[in-house]
Amino acid sequence: SEVTTQFDAVVIGSGPGGEGAAMQLVKKGRSVAMIEKHDSLGGGCTHWGTIPSKALRHSVSRLIEYNTNPLFMGACAPHSMSFAAILKHAQGVIQKQVQMRSGFYQRNGVTVLHGTASFEDSHTIKITQDDGTVEYIGTKQIVIATGSRPYHPPDVDFSHERIYDSDTVLSLKHEPKSIIIYGAGVIGSEYASIFRGLGVKVDLINTRDRLLSFLDAEISDALSYHLRNNGVVIRHNEEYERIEGHADGVTLFTKSGKRLDADCLLYANGRSGNIEELNVAALGLKPNSRGQLEVSNQYQTEVENVFAVGDIIGYPSLASAAYDQGRICATAMLEGDCEKRLISDIPTGIYTIPEISSVGKTEEELTQQKVPYEVGRAQFKHLARAQISNMAVGSLKILFHRETKEVLGIHCFGERAAEIIHIGQAIMEQKGEGNTIEYFVNTTFNYPTMAEAYRVAALNGLNRIRD
Ligand code: FAD
Repeated sequence: SEVTTQFDAVVIGSGPGGEGAAMQLVKKGRSVAMIEKHDSLGGGCTHWGTIPSKALRHSVSRLIEYNTNPLFMGACAPHSMSFAAILKHAQGVIQKQVQMRSGFYQRNGVTVLHGTASFEDSHTIKITQDDGTVEYIGTKQIVIATGSRPYHPPDVDFSHERIYDSDTVLSLKHEPKSIIIYGAGVIGSEYASIFRGLGVKVDLINTRDRLLSFLDAEISDALSYHLRNNGVVIRHNEEYERIEGHADGVTLFTKSGKRLDADCLLYANGRSGNIEELNVAALGLKPNSRGQLEVSNQYQTEVENVFAVGDIIGYPSLASAAYDQGRICATAMLEGDCEKRLISDIPTGIYTIPEISSVGKTEEELTQQKVPYEVGRAQFKHLARAQISNMAVGSLKILFHRETKEVLGIHCFGERAAEIIHIGQAIMEQKGEGNTIEYFVNTTFNYPTMAEAYRVAALNGLNRIRD
């Protein structure tokens, strides 16, 4: 096993975790190799995850707007779209994202090597090509950013052409009239919104008693209400007993004795880390049962020069967090020190229809921690900008400390929530005196805007403590 090239750092995986780390390391003058087993760059994020699902959602939400906006109703004939049609737009975006990445790695001097990486030892990586040829490269430091894939329980037949996971759904073979989505996490809820928007009959099976239980309960309830209002049938507290594929559809039997039939099924319940091919046993590392690695506050594994970021280290399993972790991990690699971000500082964007976003604490957390907080609310329907855009659904709620007025959490629901949240996040990041709800009443907002929701919510909250 002769080493052909030596690098300062090797990053395994070209998703957002690998990208964040590689870019930070080359910027600081390190020689970096990025190893990617797929032909094109960008990771699961670009090819099967974030990007395609968001592009599909965009098309569907424009379709819904067209069919429901009073501006068009009556003036134009109602429209429909096929899954195949909205997939075209998604594929175009994927292509642009891949091209952009190849370009900037080249410009910034990241050496991209295609092939499957595995550990020989903590300083040697073996790269295997599809045709079996191997190459060994040497490195001082390593970042594992191999991401995750959909979990496949052994009793579900994923080779059946009517049974999909979140990767294979992108090559859907039949335009379904009905779909069962098993698993009501973020991915399941987003796809429920997409299919329902296309007019498909959707059964969303939740193994828990609430949708997205990490969310503020009011927001999670609002999501259930609006999904149901849009026609999604949500079944909480259900688990499958058996899933059967037939020539023309699928049947799911629940443990509670129900039988559900549909044209196809999307299984979206859990993900597993891409760990097997890495041979981490060569390093003495033991992943957990979901194929994830444990890391320190510095994103360091138990092996001193081996780091891990992104989905391979588990929660929160977001592209946004993966990129950030990669960047912060690179600082630890360069300077031997970094500060791992707290989960509560990371915003969550959930691209259901309607959209959800939050940052900071939920009401439930604050109550549990006995923090004296107050709530300020704004309803989108009262904002001029929302009325102009026919946006009837949506709200913004600010949680703040009754005495210090510090903003503790922001929860937004409705179109563009994932953008709007960043205004509040910026204030929350001004630690100390810079973070106060009063900022939102003392500043000038463009008018009319959705951002104005902050002023309305802040006035509402401050009025409540003055009463
Ligand atoms: P990945 O993006 O999965 O990249 C890992 C890369 O490593 C892959 O390219 C893989 O081929 C490569 N690799 C694996 N093993 C090897 C090996 N041995 N050798 C060489 N290369 C290897 N997150 C958000 O923030 N917002 C969203 O809206 C969002 N939507 C999502 C929707 C869906 C349907 C899914 C599935 C996920 C979504 N996510 C979203 C989550 C997000 O996609 C992941 O958190 C993110 O991709 C994780 O990044 P990563 O760098 O850890 O891994």
